Amino acid sequence: MLVLEYKVKARQSQYQAINEAIRTTQFIRNKAIRYWMDSLKDSKINKIALNNYSTALRKEFKFVEELNSMACQSATERAWSAIDRFYSNCKKNVPLKKGSPRFQKDNRSVEYKTSGWSLHPTKRRITFTDKKGIGEVKLLGKWDIHAYPAKSIKRVRLVKKADGYYCQFAVDIEVSTESRIADGELGLDVGLEFFYSDSNGHHEENPRFLRKAQKAIKHAQRQIYKKEKGKNQRRKARQRYARKHLKVSRQRNEHSKRLGRCVCKANALVAYEDLNVKGMVKNHCLAKSINDASWSLFRHWLEYFAVKFNSQAVAVNPRMTSQKCSDCGAIVKKSLSTRSHVCGCGCELQRDHNAAINILNLAKASLGHKQSNATGLVTSTLLGETLVEQVTRVNVESPTL
Ligand SMILES: [Zn+2]
Repeated sequence: MLVLEYKVKARQSQYQAINEAIRTTQFIRNKAIRYWMDSLKDSKINKIALNNYSTALRKEFKFVEELNSMACQSATERAWSAIDRFYSNCKKNVPLKKGSPRFQKDNRSVEYKTSGWSLHPTKRRITFTDKKGIGEVKLLGKWDIHAYPAKSIKRVRLVKKADGYYCQFAVDIEVSTESRIADGELGLDVGLEFFYSDSNGHHEENPRFLRKAQKAIKHAQRQIYKKEKGKNQRRKARQRYARKHLKVSRQRNEHSKRLGRCVCKANALVAYEDLNVKGMVKNHCLAKSINDASWSLFRHWLEYFAVKFNSQAVAVNPRMTSQKCSDCGAIVKKSLSTRSHVCGCGCELQRDHNAAINILNLAKASLGHKQSNATGLVTSTLLGETLVEQVTRVNVESPTL
């Protein structure tokens, strides 16, 4: 799946119609969650039952009927994916607090499937044909949606962001593979001092824009609370904050994407820490959330480009990787402030460089074990629908207005 995004240009009344469609989507989703909660006892609620429920809602509420029927289904499918996630968390014994489906208050998108819209034959316009009254809007962007057959467009999503409205097309095409320029092997260690350090001794600097942006965002955030509640000034300060946030999340995405591409293009094996490992707290007091966010994004792109360049991306358990000597395997205890690794065996390395070599070695060891299955990719995230979600999530990361 590929997501093409355009900015939408329309009249004020059309934006209001989009808002109305977004509100309806939220209404259907929340109604479906309520329906599921109320009928937990008979436990017959599944995806199909929720779809049928959307038909019932259409009969009951006129404003639901005005939304395209497949868009209504998309809304109940959102409810179902929340419920489904809840069930699978239960099975995996993940603490329930966060997993149980909640009612949504800040929905910002409406999703059409293969009906309810039509693309203008020549120019960059799309018309929404249901009774919500959105009508024909202009699409601004450098993509060419006409390069893809209309049949391959599986989803059309309208999204409200801090700086306007966007139209996203999810196109069902194979991610074309490109050839690698080298067959290296690389271990990556995430740090705070550097964005990452690799097993060849290269240190990738933390991008300056993140540091700068962090300050600007904090400043914008404080400005909100200085303004009186309910006043226009406060609303404007909030908008400024949201726009800054959106800008950084775009920069962060571009940066991670560029690095992920570079790494996978030159390496047949890329190893990194599995930071999702439970109980793993790395430099917790120091870890800045902004770095954490960048890292998980970088990981998504690594896994994406690993597929594209036919490389192997392997996540390893980071336990002891910074303490162990990458040469002889001895444990050399060091505190956070110790920046170098000096072992009795004569091995002397920068701390993160040593860790990156350990990470690479762990990945090679785990591959030796797994290759008997000959399954190919060992990535923890598979391409497909999840990519659409990832990319989209990246897109809608900025806070609500
Ligand atoms: Zn040693």
